[in-house]
Amino acid sequence: MQVRILGCSGGIGGTLQTTSMLVDNDILIDAGTGVTELTLSELEQIDHVFLTHAHVDHIAALPLIVDTVGPIRKQPLTVHCLPEVQQNLKDHIFNWKIWPDFGEIPSKQNPSLRWEPVELGQTVDMGGRKFTTLPANHVVPAVGYWLDSAQASFVFTGDTTTNDALWKVVNKIQALQSCGLRTSAPKTCAPKTRSAFARYPRHIAGATPRATTATS
Ligand SMILES: [Zn+2]
Repeated sequence: MQVRILGCSGGIGGTLQTTSMLVDNDILIDAGTGVTELTLSELEQIDHVFLTHAHVDHIAALPLIVDTVGPIRKQPLTVHCLPEVQQNLKDHIFNWKIWPDFGEIPSKQNPSLRWEPVELGQTVDMGGRKFTTLPANHVVPAVGYWLDSAQASFVFTGDTTTNDALWKVVNKIQALQSCGLRTSAPKTCAPKTRSAFARYPRHIAGATPRATTATS
């Protein structure tokens, strides 16, 4: 199992892209603007998207992916997310006002996009690659993901702040190879940028990881 970081920033500009990771060649974790790093052929191969939450830096490219490759794919793109995330995206993005509902295009019987609800602690087996949802502590419904290939594990926290429930699970994972901790406003940010992040609570900011790191 290979994980390619396409974007990990909260914004854009220059080399910055927002959060998205490609697992092998067929699965995305989040669909931020990092997806624009992929070629059309690479986009066409994506069968599944696992979303951590519905903030725009994590879903910005989702409407465009399905619009771009929907007509040339034989199978619908499957989006795995919490029911609350699905509802928010259907209400506010795929609502025929901001973007068409691709769950009905070209038809309800044969859509370009389908939803698969996940709940906290659930494991989805993707051909031996196991995706388990992890608790997050964010301002909106959110999860992290534990990827287990049987040989090694990778954890992505998604957006969260200090979160004992998360580390309780992570500390029990055998063969944890790496952990992607989504942080905001690192110490290198300009003071103005750092203060802007104060308006968006429940992120891990520059100095926070000291208080929230895994212990094994
Ligand atoms: Zn967020």
